[in-house]
Amino acid sequence: MFAPLLDILFPQETCCICRKPGKFGSRQPWCQECTDKMIELQCSCSICEKCGKYLEEGETLCADCRNSPPQFEVARAVGPYEEPYRIATKVLKFMGRKHLAPQMGNMMVKKIQQESRFGKIDLILPVPISRKGLQKRGFNQTELLARQISKELGVKMDSTVIRRVKETPSQTELSREEREKNLLCAFEVTDKKRVYNKNILVVDDVYTTGSTGRECTRTLLEAGAARVCIITWATGKGF
Ligand SMILES: [Zn+2]
Ligand SMILES: [Zn+2]
Repeated sequence: MFAPLLDILFPQETCCICRKPGKFGSRQPWCQECTDKMIELQCSCSICEKCGKYLEEGETLCADCRNSPPQFEVARAVGPYEEPYRIATKVLKFMGRKHLAPQMGNMMVKKIQQESRFGKIDLILPVPISRKGLQKRGFNQTELLARQISKELGVKMDSTVIRRVKETPSQTELSREEREKNLLCAFEVTDKKRVYNKNILVVDDVYTTGSTGRECTRTLLEAGAARVCIITWATGKGF
């Protein structure tokens, strides 16, 4: 649904993050203080130069990237998976407030434009969510973000290229090894011609252990993609 229509149908009278009263909508879903907090958090920590996870001061690569270098070119996130970023993710995903997606997507675009390693992107692919998740929520939050990024960058988005072929149990309680085992061969490229030799941007909401990004990358490269970059809304800590 178009953002202006969402605003008419569902006018927002509080900041979706801190609940402060005011006039909000898809152009401005949260208040100035929440915006300031987001910006402050972006600048407060150093990040892994490969996967973008937040690091202790003075480090350049996280332990995961040192121990097993990812195949993707670069992964970046708008901010750390802490308030207010964490709340925005939940409000979009679990409360179904789709009017957050345009602003979140625009901030992801800014991040992409700040990092030259993303290069010229040919195709944007949202990470598919599980069938259960789709049934429960009725939408894929990652696809909403990917759609906005596609609109802003003027690059094609296709939500049918990667398919989930294995239903994976909830990942949140699992260790990195368990997640990786779980996700192995969880995705499939439906039409290899569409990814062949392409520079692909994979979009996800949160980068936690990186298992999803790694597995999507492996699947895409195996199908003939030239390179894969990852953008997420939020990311975890690499220490
Ligand atoms: Zn607020
Ligand atoms: Zn890393």
